[in-house]
Amino acid sequence: MVCAGTRQAKQGALTIVRRSSSKGKEAAAPTDEQLDQLDLDPEHLPAVDTPDACDKAALRLRYLLRQLNRGEISAETLQKNLQYAAKVLEAVYIDETKEPRPEGDQRAAPAPLPRRRLRTPCWARCSIDRPEAKRLADEDDELSEVQPDAVPPEVREWLASTFTRQLATAKRKSDEKPKFRSVAHAIRAGIFVDRIYRRVTSTALMQFPQDVVRVLKTLDEWSFDVFALNEAAGGAAIKYLGYELLNRYGMIHKFKVPPTVLENFLGRIEEGYCKFHNPYHNNLHAADVAQTVHYMLCQTGLMNWLSDLEIFATLVAAVVHDFEHTGTTNNFHVMSGSDTALLYNDRAVLENHHISAAFRLLRDEECNILQNLSRDEFREFRTLVIDMVLATDMSFHFQQLKNMRAMLTLAEPVVDKSKAASLVLHCCDISHPAKRWDLHHRWTMSLLDEFFLQGDKERELGLPFSPLCDRNNTLVAESQIGFIEFIVEPSMGVCADMLECVLGPLHGAKGPREPRGEGGKGDYHCLD
Ligand code: AMP
Ligand code: ZN
Repeated sequence: MVCAGTRQAKQGALTIVRRSSSKGKEAAAPTDEQLDQLDLDPEHLPAVDTPDACDKAALRLRYLLRQLNRGEISAETLQKNLQYAAKVLEAVYIDETKEPRPEGDQRAAPAPLPRRRLRTPCWARCSIDRPEAKRLADEDDELSEVQPDAVPPEVREWLASTFTRQLATAKRKSDEKPKFRSVAHAIRAGIFVDRIYRRVTSTALMQFPQDVVRVLKTLDEWSFDVFALNEAAGGAAIKYLGYELLNRYGMIHKFKVPPTVLENFLGRIEEGYCKFHNPYHNNLHAADVAQTVHYMLCQTGLMNWLSDLEIFATLVAAVVHDFEHTGTTNNFHVMSGSDTALLYNDRAVLENHHISAAFRLLRDEECNILQNLSRDEFREFRTLVIDMVLATDMSFHFQQLKNMRAMLTLAEPVVDKSKAASLVLHCCDISHPAKRWDLHHRWTMSLLDEFFLQGDKERELGLPFSPLCDRNNTLVAESQIGFIEFIVEPSMGVCADMLECVLGPLHGAKGPREPRGEGGKGDYHCLD
């Protein structure tokens, strides 16, 4: 790696120029003696966005390589030092990924639409003896052999966006253009670190039972059978589905989530969902919503519009959105004066609890999947998750749809990413009537079971029955028709308009479709 001779580190971005002393030659490899004297303690390292960090990272990579060859290195030392090297590379500032514009062309460059490729499923990586899995694993490995001069623009774009942050955050001064060769060196070094990191993590990746693998093959389908997954997974649907999704979107890799920590986190989340033995608001529902969010992200192209952090937050929000649900509604909490209602002043009682309990869990180091996020990333992630989960409070439903619809009718709608992701999550939360009949029927029966159990409690406490909770006086079919017609269908309609608005132009559509009006079929009306 060739790095800055001039000290011009800026906030979170390091400009690469050739080392002035090397005059076009590669920097000399460190001697064995230098490597022997290396202090490997990760505490003693310079900040990642300083020129010094490049040298230190390179030296450590050489050292790791040597020790790997000798088989004398602990996984922990390897991981910590690779993480540091990866962060140094991410701080490197590269602006050579755009196509050159013709001379005199002053137009603003069109926003490129980065096409994401989901990663190889981790169960395919784990069992590379199967031919299909081997082909995918080979494709991954081939990347590491790419010569910089042969890198096509879209691959360069992907590499740059994976190994640097500049596309989203930094701006380059026009007189600071790096040479492509030096960029290429950085990319190669990035691939090198990436490959070692993947080797370390993939050996530690969770093993998937064959039955789980079989069910997960239909993960991208709208009517994915989460009940079958849970059965195959021995009741641990969240553990496998959550792990698989975070791996597929590259989140484990991108945010350096230690695999065992992820496993611990998902295990504890799963336990929290099973705490009250709810017929409906349990681990299955969380897994179902997370899978439906995945469908929306990958099948509509939404994943190309969102940043890595936004995708990470959306998937985690889906997984935790009903964490430690009590099997009773907000209304029940308020009317019975529960401790939780007292704590949250009767507002979004359950939703506040889901978020708070999930973030409390993340304080435990063994479950902290956010441990390698920067302070800013953590803040952004937390804000997104809070906004998204609070928006699953059904009492916000009409307001949420009204706001989004109003925005879509503007001459130039600007859709806020957090609001878009919130609407998607809300729609996925109530999506089962749009799934295959047997799945929908099962969900509805489970929810009614839960409502009726609440009704039994209400009767015991001398409270009035909440709607749909009296097992002797509930019109099941009618309630379902009402739910579908007034809640589900209008939500899906607004969500479709919103997706068309943000993704249509990116995918070359003529423009956003006319948003649905206020009066026709498919509109919602306040039920009360
Ligand atoms: P959540 O509680 O976060 O899962 O939000 C979804 C809410 O949608 C549920 O609590 C119910 O109020 C409502 N819901 C979902 N499915 C049905 C259904 N089949 N019938 C009536 N309401 C439903
Ligand atoms: Zn839910």
